[in-house]
Amino acid sequence: MKVTVLGAGVVGVTTAYCLARHGCPVTVIDRRNELAAEASYANGGQLSYDFASPVDSPGVLRRLADYLLVRPLGIAGPIQPIRGYSITAPAKSGAPQVAIIYLGRKMVFSRIGLNMCIAGFADASPQSPKFAQERRQALVHCAQNTLPQVADYLSISSKWADVRPSTPNSLPIVGESKVRRLFRNIGHGMFGWTLSAASAEGIVREIFCGKGAVIQGKAA
Ligand SMILES: Cc1cc2nc3c(=O)[nH]c(=O)nc-3n(C[C@H](O)[C@H](O)[C@H](O)COP(=O)(O)OP(=O)(O)OC[C@H]3O[C@@H](n4cnc5c(N)ncnc54)[C@H](O)[C@@H]3O)c2cc1C
Repeated sequence: MKVTVLGAGVVGVTTAYCLARHGCPVTVIDRRNELAAEASYANGGQLSYDFASPVDSPGVLRRLADYLLVRPLGIAGPIQPIRGYSITAPAKSGAPQVAIIYLGRKMVFSRIGLNMCIAGFADASPQSPKFAQERRQALVHCAQNTLPQVADYLSISSKWADVRPSTPNSLPIVGESKVRRLFRNIGHGMFGWTLSAASAEGIVREIFCGKGAVIQGKAA
């Protein structure tokens, strides 16, 4: 079976890798000239397994109202672009080796080699370039106030923003669409890096074994 994957972000590439491991010839198509040039570029780089809400956790069903109403239409689903921001700066000697999540300010700090990557915020509204610039500056300000000793904030090498493709609870839509043989693995929201390997495995199982195929594995 030949498969074409649309989108070369972390989700598309992980899905293509998983298909190839199952012996499937894969073609990946993207409108960009390079891999991971949109939401997957320069994000927080954290694997946040504890923060992906299980569907039965309190409040999730209420937030899922839109999701359940729109999903039966069989189209892309209730996916909203939720903008986030990140900065990269040289790590200082006091920088932690483990990733830190500051829930109160919705920020993550990740050590990546010699740098600290700091990401945060979730904006749903469309933005002017001026607003985006202010938000990036606000992220720098929050990071300096929160963990001043971890990075050289005077030598920021990159400031970045892009939209996370998000369902209401950041759990992806994984499965066959209304169009036969058209499968979706989309809407990972804040957790694309965290969930991409598992959702790739899930979609590949469904492609090969049909709906309801169970992913075998141990909880971390
Ligand atoms: C600031 C920020 C920080 C983040 N931090 C973390 C984190 O710490 N941990 C974590 O788990 N997740 C994090 N995320 C979320 C994660 O980055 C996303 O969930 C993930 O990158 C989504 O991957 P994707 O492949 O679905 O989308 P994308 O990376 O956006 O890839 C989609 C691809 O599809 C292509 N495409 C779109 N339309 C078309 C078309 N019509 N034709 C051809 N190609 C097309 C695009 O060019 C793009 O390459 C963060 C996101 C942001 C913005």
